[in-house]
Amino acid sequence: MISYDLDNDTLYEIAVKSLTAPSNAYFWDDRLYETHGAFVSWAERGDDLLEESNYRSALALIQGAAGESAEDHVIDGTSSHWAFGSLRTIYVQIRETAEPCDFQGCDEESHWWREGVETHTQFCEDHRAEYDAEGLPYEPLIPPFTDAFLEAAGIVTALLDYPFVDESDYSDRESQRFEANLDEAVDQAHKLNWEDTDADREAILERAWPDLGELYGQQANAEVSWESVAEIWGEARDAHFSELGNLHLNAQIEGQLLLVAA
Ligand SMILES: [Zn+2]
Repeated sequence: MISYDLDNDTLYEIAVKSLTAPSNAYFWDDRLYETHGAFVSWAERGDDLLEESNYRSALALIQGAAGESAEDHVIDGTSSHWAFGSLRTIYVQIRETAEPCDFQGCDEESHWWREGVETHTQFCEDHRAEYDAEGLPYEPLIPPFTDAFLEAAGIVTALLDYPFVDESDYSDRESQRFEANLDEAVDQAHKLNWEDTDADREAILERAWPDLGELYGQQANAEVSWESVAEIWGEARDAHFSELGNLHLNAQIEGQLLLVAA
């Protein structure tokens, strides 16, 4: 992962974008699009490997950056969507939680501050009115960006230039899924020749292996064409049985020669 040194304007832009809620949507958690912006999504029941890899890798990185605050600052959200089925989205708290108001007995969040004699005073919207009445100056108090947000902002920026959050995670998933899909296709090809024994299957698989391996990367999302596998399987199977046949024939010929010799 390339680390991006993002300036404040860029971070602000990313924050605003992530807090812009899609229209006509229902949210199950009132932190969404209020304190927590949306970053990376994945249509969970789809078969897009890159989307899955990026989602899981981004989630791990953002949770890692958030450390002990991960539980509050990072939401691994699932929502039902009419088009995508189930949609997973990473929501990240943009700014640190505001500190409480300094006024005694007040537990509102501080949104303003002013220079005090020894230290500054921070206060809520209600207590701001008291300073207004006295005509005293104060400044807005904006909590810093969270580490989770800084990481998420870096990830979405990097994704503009390079499609993988973690390319090795992606290629691991790709080869695992290819193997599973290939197993399924081989099972199917083997079943079509139900009279073949397990030993035949092993021998045919060994022959077919190099050609089956060539199928890797030919289709998107590690899909495997059953037709291609059946074709490769058929050729390997023919070769296997013709060799067996020759062995058998040779044995017969040798046997006859022995008989003749006797
Ligand atoms: Zn207050």
